[in-house]
Amino acid sequence: MDTLSNFIGGRYVPFDPDATYPIVSPVDGAFTARVHEADEALVDEAVMAAHRALTGPWRDLTQPQRSDLLNAVAAGISERFDDFVEAEMADTGQPRHVMEKAFVPRGAANFEFFADLVKNLPTETFELRTSHGDALNYALRRPKGVIGVICPWNAPFLLMTWKVAPALACGNTVVVKPSEQTPRTATLLGEVMRAAGVPDGVYNVIHGFGPGSAGAFLTSHPRVDAITFTGETTTGTAIMKAAAEGVRDVSFELGGKNSAVVCADADLDKAVEGVFRSAFLNTGQVCLGTEKVFVERPIFEAFRDKLAARVQQVRYGRPTERDTTYGPLISQEHRDKVLSYYAQAVAQGATVVTGGGVPDMPADLAGGSWIQPTIWTGAPPDAAILHEEIFGPCCHLAPFDDDDAVVRLVNATPYGLAASVWTQSLSRAHRFAAAIDVGVVWINSWFLRDLRTAFGGAKQSGIGREGGVHSLEFYTETKNVCVQL
Ligand code: NAD
Repeated sequence: MDTLSNFIGGRYVPFDPDATYPIVSPVDGAFTARVHEADEALVDEAVMAAHRALTGPWRDLTQPQRSDLLNAVAAGISERFDDFVEAEMADTGQPRHVMEKAFVPRGAANFEFFADLVKNLPTETFELRTSHGDALNYALRRPKGVIGVICPWNAPFLLMTWKVAPALACGNTVVVKPSEQTPRTATLLGEVMRAAGVPDGVYNVIHGFGPGSAGAFLTSHPRVDAITFTGETTTGTAIMKAAAEGVRDVSFELGGKNSAVVCADADLDKAVEGVFRSAFLNTGQVCLGTEKVFVERPIFEAFRDKLAARVQQVRYGRPTERDTTYGPLISQEHRDKVLSYYAQAVAQGATVVTGGGVPDMPADLAGGSWIQPTIWTGAPPDAAILHEEIFGPCCHLAPFDDDDAVVRLVNATPYGLAASVWTQSLSRAHRFAAAIDVGVVWINSWFLRDLRTAFGGAKQSGIGREGGVHSLEFYTETKNVCVQL
């Protein structure tokens, strides 16, 4: 069984067997690791290590030197590629090809991207001319300080590096609290940071839970200057309260209840494949995932039948096996939650097109948190599955006849993260994009990310935007210097 330690001040803290919690494989329920849970004193040690590192050799690096270090981290991830793939598969149970093609390469790409971006940043300058004198204003960007990075379990390495890379590129230091359920890749990254020569204390990892544990100790620590958080909207509310003490800044990427709109003129096969990915990738555990699909009436039945046929092709299995395309949910607890929606959907009048329960698995996988991918139709307008984030492999299909009416249905949620629109009509696509209240709209695509663009949620799906120069707004303070000429 693995043991996972906290990484503080450039070293792994000696493992304390009396302060651990177990983690369990989502694939078969076997115990796979014990994790050293950081107490308040260890969290304080991590934050103070990060605070001290702000004024050490890290501050004295030139921007090109800092970028070189981040590129060395990216190279280190690529050198240890298989280790990161194994670690992420062990934690999440998701198939190897998803790790190899998407999630682990994105971790390295995040460091390369921000290393490049910060090399060529302009700053703003204004000349002021008045009747009583002239002045020159220019802006300087300075790191914000110690950034608390709190991460979820659904794409742990991608989402963590998405925060750590820009934070470090801007000269901050970080204390990362990975999800208690997926601590491996953040821990492994400590080895890469050390090998790359990142100064001690710049990158720290603490393990534990939220309330009464490492998460809450971190967010309430007065030396944490800002908090970036990805997770549930309710957790964001708790973190925002903690951040109010000391008026610390927050950047939040939160939950969603996302729609796809499929028009009758769409390329049907592409729309089916796109909606399939958006609803079922990562067993539906993607914040951007589609849970509501509106299909224009003339193609409704054809779309439903093709999507159901596609869903029935998924291949369950161990993530390590090359032909596996579909993994388990993260935990039994999460499966209970998703299954409660499966039950409510039927009780509230929805029709199950495919799935709806737990698959029969071979004996060696029977202890895993497996669940069938599920499609419903015919749920009444007030059904829970149409309003609450399920975060599982399921979607509801409804026919539509009128564009304005469907926009109202898409927007009828307190969330506002993402949407996709499938149509060949340019003007219809742009009209939908303008009218849907979300942070990102994909036209004839889904999860096609350009790291230069703004990413974040509207309404209760988040606060702020990250990506490209938008990340710099959060990870730096802008200081204006005004010189009377
Ligand atoms: P979660 O909110 O339960 O936990 C996220 C992290 O917060 C964990 O590390 C947890 O230990 C920590 N935490 C919990 N309570 C805390 C507290 N009071 N103080 C400090 N830390 C605390 O989320 P999850 O279940 O791990 O992830 C799933 C959620 O994440 C979904 O709602 C999903 O939509 C959302 N998500 C959003 C995005 C996005 O980009 N918008 C991306 C991925 C996931």
